[in-house]
Formats: sequence, C-alpha cells, structure tokens
Amino acid sequence: MIQYTLRLDQPQHHYFDVTMQIPSPAKDGQILYLPAWIPGSYMIRDFAKHIVEFEARCEGKTLTYERLDKSTWKIEPATGPLVIQYRVYAFDASIRAAYLDFNYGFANGTSVFLAAKGFEQVPQQVSIESSSHPSLAGWQVATTLQGHTTKDTGFGSYIAANYDELIDHPILFGELTSIHFIASNRPHRLVLVGKHYASKEHLASDLARICEEQHQLWGEVPDFKRYDFLTIVTQNGFGGLEHRSSTALMCPRGSLEFGSGDLPRPEYVEFLSLCSHEYFHNWNIKRLKPQAFIPYQLGSESYTPELWWYEGVTSYYDVLMLYRAGVVNLEAFLSRLNQTLTRGLREPGSTRQALSESSFLAWTTFYQQNENAVNAISNYYAKGAVLAFYLDLKLHLQHSSLDDLLRLLWEKYGKNSKGTTMNIIFNEIEKLAGKSVFQDIEALVTQPTQIKVDELVEHFGLKLQRSATHPITLQPTSEPRFEKVELGAALKEAHIGMEVQRVIEGSAAAFAGLSAKDTLIAIDGLQANASQILRVLMNFTPGETCTVHFMRDQRLLERELTWQAPRMDNLRLEVTNASHLPWHTPQV
Ligand SMILES: [Zn+2]
Repeated sequence: MIQYTLRLDQPQHHYFDVTMQIPSPAKDGQILYLPAWIPGSYMIRDFAKHIVEFEARCEGKTLTYERLDKSTWKIEPATGPLVIQYRVYAFDASIRAAYLDFNYGFANGTSVFLAAKGFEQVPQQVSIESSSHPSLAGWQVATTLQGHTTKDTGFGSYIAANYDELIDHPILFGELTSIHFIASNRPHRLVLVGKHYASKEHLASDLARICEEQHQLWGEVPDFKRYDFLTIVTQNGFGGLEHRSSTALMCPRGSLEFGSGDLPRPEYVEFLSLCSHEYFHNWNIKRLKPQAFIPYQLGSESYTPELWWYEGVTSYYDVLMLYRAGVVNLEAFLSRLNQTLTRGLREPGSTRQALSESSFLAWTTFYQQNENAVNAISNYYAKGAVLAFYLDLKLHLQHSSLDDLLRLLWEKYGKNSKGTTMNIIFNEIEKLAGKSVFQDIEALVTQPTQIKVDELVEHFGLKLQRSATHPITLQPTSEPRFEKVELGAALKEAHIGMEVQRVIEGSAAAFAGLSAKDTLIAIDGLQANASQILRVLMNFTPGETCTVHFMRDQRLLERELTWQAPRMDNLRLEVTNASHLPWHTPQV
C-alpha cells in the first residue's frame, strides 16, 4: 500500500506539504511522476512544475535522485522503505489544479499525489492532517474518497483502490456549508465554501429533482454510494469539472440565490444547469467514454474526435433536464436553447473546422483560444449541442429519440466499461434511424458544414426567427435590435474608449483595420462609449462611411470605415404549436 500524508500548515505561502511512503520500492530505483493533465480538461498543464521542494529518504538516509523529464523523478536504488517529502505550490483559483489560502483549500489528486511507478494498481491511503495554523482552526474536509478512519470534520484517513481512483476524488477544505438531499434513495450533498447567501431549501429540492430526472433517463443510478457537488463560491468565477462520484464547481455567489419571485433568477438557473451538466457526465464521459480514455494516458495529450458527442450532447441535456424535471418553464429552457443555437451556428469558425477535428485538436485550439478563435474554430460544446438537438429531432421523426440512443449506448458500452469510437456512435445511429440519418450526421460531424435546423424545427411546432446579436458584446440576445448597421467587433468598456476584444472576419471593423486589443477612441468624431456607439449605429445606413480613431501600441490611428448591415445571426425559436413540441411536458 502507498501512503500519503497531506498537511495544510502554510496557507500564507500556498503550500500543501506531502509525505509519501513506499514500503518496498523498485530495486533498480523507484520512479515517481505526476500527470500532465487532468481528465475532463484537455490541456497539458504539467502539474509537476508546482513542486517546489523534493526529498527522498530511506531509513533516515537522504537519497539522491535524477529528473527523467519535466514530470518524472528517479530515486537512487534503496534497500528499505522509501519516504518522499515534497511541497506543492497551490495558488490556482480554478477547479483544475490546487489552491490554498486562509479562505479555503482545494486539491485535485493530479496536483498533489505523486504516482509510484509499478504501484498504480495497489491501494493508496491518504491521511489528511488538521492544520496547526490558527486561522484554519474551524476547517472541515469534503471529498468522496472512501473514509477509513475519519473524524466528523472530515480530517483523518481515506483509502482508494488504486491511483486512478485516488486522483478522481477532489478534496475541498474550509468552513463548509453542507446541504444534504436524497435522490433515488442515494445520499447527495451540495458543499459550499466561500461567502454566500444560498437558497438552501430551493437548491436541495431542485437538485434532487434534476438528479432523479437523469436517473430516469439513463435507467439507473451510477455505481457510487453518495455524490458531492463541491462548490467554491466566488464573485465571478464559473466552471465545473466532472469526477466519478463528485464534481468540482466554481460559481458566482449570486447564482446560489433563487430570488424573491415565483420564477428562479436566470443566474440561479445557470448554476443548476452547471450542476446538471456535470451530473450528466456521470454517464456521458465518466462511464460511457471514448476508447482512447481507457485507461487515461495522463503523461501527454490523449486524442479523441468524440468530444462533440460527450460535451455537445451533455450541453444539450443540461438545461433540458431542468425543464423535464419541472425546475424551469418552457420559456427559460428555450431561452437557453436559443443562446446555444446562436453560439453554435453563427461564428465563421463553425463552418471552417469540422466538429471531429475541433474535438481532436481541443488541446491546442479550444483550450488555447486566441483572439481569432471565433473565426477559426468550431465550438464542440455549442455546435455539438446544436447537433444533439438536430439529431434528437431527426430521431423523433423516426418515432425514436436521443434518449433511446443514450440508453442503447449505455447498455452496450457504458455499463460494460467498453469504450466508444466515432464509428460505434455512427453505427448505433444507423441502426436506430437508418442510413440517411447516419450519413447526414456523419457529414455534419466530419465536415465543416452548417447545421440547417430551419425546416426541421417546423415539424415540431417551432419556427426559427433571425435577428441581430447585441451590437456591442456580440452576445446572443432576447431583445429585438433596431440598429441599421453593425461594426462586427466585440467591445468592452475601457478606462478611455472601448477595448476591442475580437473582430469578426469580413466585418466593417475588419475592413477598417480594427484588431483585437486596439482601443477604439472615437467613431464619426464622437468619443467611443457604449451609448454613443449605439447612437451612431442607428444613424448610418449600409455602404455609408465614417472615420474611426483607435490606439494600437500607443499610436493613434485614423481609418475610414464602411458600414455593413447587421448580420441576422441571432437565433430564436418561437413556439407555433405547443402540442407538437418534441420534449415531454413536465409533470409539476
Ligand atoms: Zn462538460
């Protein structure tokens, strides 16, 4: 058995201290390593670079070691048990690595637990010691690692069957609020750290309904004893990462408040959708998963062309589950679906890169987006979700549904821990819906083609309406817009003027020479701010020109801009016949 002791005595320096014991190390020198990436977040992060001190000992004697590469250590041969001591710098305020200060602590195993080569399959025990630091006196620990001898506070020892299990249970530390609820007879917890005014009763009952709705869809509860939503509450942070019996979430504090009206606030719906999304991954990626991830190869990039399925389908279902559980109404569900349609279909990149390629290259494109991403890459979350919606409707026309396809894949692959390939998914589509649907979907996945939903939705009592997106932010909007021209650049208020965040290829802004990171100073001689720009957009017609002034590299530039008509790429579904909608009406 490999044993680790985790100490939190230096929150002021953001250090986790770890002692690791290997009872019978490899005779020719024990190799130790840390993963380079964490499952669910497809980017090389080289967690080992955060190890700032490292020492190996055997029976009181310090041993030498060599570095084999950026993530690997080799200790000189030892005859007795090895003791490794190391210190991890933990100041990554996300849910992908590790963090420690006076407010809270968070640790993924991929950041703090070195793997002992050759011992990955043996049990791994972790002892989490309560901190000697007075500021951390009231802290507790939350994790779904299996408790061995733990106190009520959660400090104590935990055990995992192997290294793979050890690193799939993140650990949250701090003054925690735990909200318990039961879904399908299985205990669940929402654990919060950070200042909040959470609507605890609403959260418990809404989350229980969402979880049960998912159990019903998949036909069973996954093989966990209990499930934790481990949540770091911040001012503006947002994100989630799925694990086998928990999820690590980050949310804005306002998103935990239901609000005072009858209907939930949109921010609250956003948080529930995030929970629903990560919970859906219990099946779709944690258990039903690409062959390429069995087992995970965490030393370098692990390529799969299937993320459009695992993230796109999950994104389509996250808010759909809220609607089907009766947690949100049709209007709230459609509003989210409209945003997805707009985000998935309007960017120039969505017809430049195929979904399969976007999935495959997630490591260097989706996860390392530059200012030109909007023109270059296809978003496998948003466009993948549109494809899931499209496929669901196509299946409904054949008296089936995407639910049926999910259950089929679960029964044949997920349940038996058999991995999928793109061909396996395509084959199941063909079996369920026939050759033409399969060929249609295959083309939409493997070629950079636009997904045409206009005609299809009309079979289901829906009509697709097109309007302009918000002219300043380029975000999807539910408000009608009346501007006569558009710039085609996303702008953000700056200290003086507006900062250009991104420029749509072929837009008026692009032809005028505006680029991301420029500061727009004036348009048509008027100081550039949001209200002034909106005024200008109302008073020109396409083809007319005006001057723009902007700063680049501390130089003032003046250019002529020729106005273009607004692109009608903000998509909105209008219900024309509610009795034809493809989704089950919730029983509330
Ligand atoms: Zn996801």
